[in-house]
Amino acid sequence: MREVELSELSVAQLRARRRRLVGAVSDPERTLRGVLLHKERRCSSDGCHCRRGELHGPYSYLAIYAGGRSRTIYVPAAVEAACEAHVEGTQRNEELLLEISQINLELLRRRALE
Ligand SMILES: [Zn+2]
Repeated sequence: MREVELSELSVAQLRARRRRLVGAVSDPERTLRGVLLHKERRCSSDGCHCRRGELHGPYSYLAIYAGGRSRTIYVPAAVEAACEAHVEGTQRNEELLLEISQINLELLRRRALE
């Protein structure tokens, strides 16, 4: 919901909406920030079929941004599903937290931040 729409809600409605959003946040223990990528790769072997365009993979990587730079980390197949679930849950949680922050900003404007 956009801020202009939040401004049309009462303080009680804003707090009720915030409570619903908090209830939708999933286990923060599963937080994993990043973007899951699937890439095909060439290996270092000269005679390999990948030199003729038949690449290896796709393999999964997690692109992360930390300390002002980005890098990718290989994701083994055995943990790929778990990694994907963590990343998706984290993205949903961050959208929920953003919306909660917008509600709190609206409550602050009305001096109703408790
Ligand atoms: Zn190869």
